Amino acid sequence: MISLKPLPTNLNSSFFRSLTPFKLFTPKTQTLKSSKSHSHSAIKSVLQWNRKPELAGETPRVVVITSGKGGVGKTTTTANVGLSLARLGFSVVAIDADVGLRNLDLLLGLENRVNYTLVEVMNGDCRLDQALVRDKRWSNFELLCISKPRSKLPLGFGGKALVWLVEALKTRPEGCPDFIIIDCPAGIDAGFITAITPANEAVLVSTPDITSLRDADRVTGLLECDGIRDIKMVVNRVRTDMIKGEDMMSVLDVQEMLGLALLGVIPEDSEVIRSTNRGYPLVLNKPPTLAGLAFEQAAWRLVEQDTMKAVMVEEEPKKRGFFSLFGG
Ligand code: ADP
Ligand code: MG
Repeated sequence: MISLKPLPTNLNSSFFRSLTPFKLFTPKTQTLKSSKSHSHSAIKSVLQWNRKPELAGETPRVVVITSGKGGVGKTTTTANVGLSLARLGFSVVAIDADVGLRNLDLLLGLENRVNYTLVEVMNGDCRLDQALVRDKRWSNFELLCISKPRSKLPLGFGGKALVWLVEALKTRPEGCPDFIIIDCPAGIDAGFITAITPANEAVLVSTPDITSLRDADRVTGLLECDGIRDIKMVVNRVRTDMIKGEDMMSVLDVQEMLGLALLGVIPEDSEVIRSTNRGYPLVLNKPPTLAGLAFEQAAWRLVEQDTMKAVMVEEEPKKRGFFSLFGG
């Protein structure tokens, strides 16, 4: 049984208010027009959080979290979206496919429990269930690392190993997981190809800066060449103050440049760094934080194969001066 507490209305509304420079809405959640509809939408979104999302598509949904550029938030997204899915009651296997530089285990606080990896499973040194690390907080969340830190993959290890893994997870006695989420390494070399091979959908993480966008665009092309048509994007580290000051691209600009469906918009939040260092994923924080809520909403949309829209900022109403009272 899952029990999701309703979000505090004030926090929820301030979260959405903080996103107004790229005013967001989804048909199923909220549209911000006036303060009246604002409070109404807050209530609607609180109501939404008391139902379980309906899982769309066939299971297991194999989703690769990728970006091209490093340091944009792939691992953060994998950890937080993965745990949100588990909290929503779905069974999740998160795979850290970042070979030499794995850190998903650190973000999840599971680093001391990783004894075996996929390489040992493939070598016949252990069983698959021994390499899967079950989270003690959410038992329907499991982590699997591909290899030990700083180790090299054996010759011949590639996409086929992950395809075998997905097949093995499908037929395991505990049952097929609802989601298999793959944390992809940066770059577009062999590690990237290995990570995307078994996936049938992708989440492209990008920050609103030109270098990240160029890499994301290149990766989109490669994913499409590989036959992955369901690509959604998460725009991470968004700063509304910088967008207002025209120092940062708006989410609408990013969406127009990449032409992808929008899964979520994550604000820049110092809590992300704090939770990374504590090995305690943001979405488990109490009280919830802005970025944590945004990740939860992205997970919700992923389940329902829903998207959101970024639209132009409505100009703030001009302040009426003293003389305007006299028709001035
Ligand atoms: P990647 O896996 O793409 O290399 P990470 O998920 O490891 O990127 O994130 C890189 C760094 O950025 C981490 O230190 C993380 O804490 C930080 N970070 C990610 N998202 C945010 C955010 N929304 N706000 C603040 N810091 C963030
Ligand atoms: Mg990473």
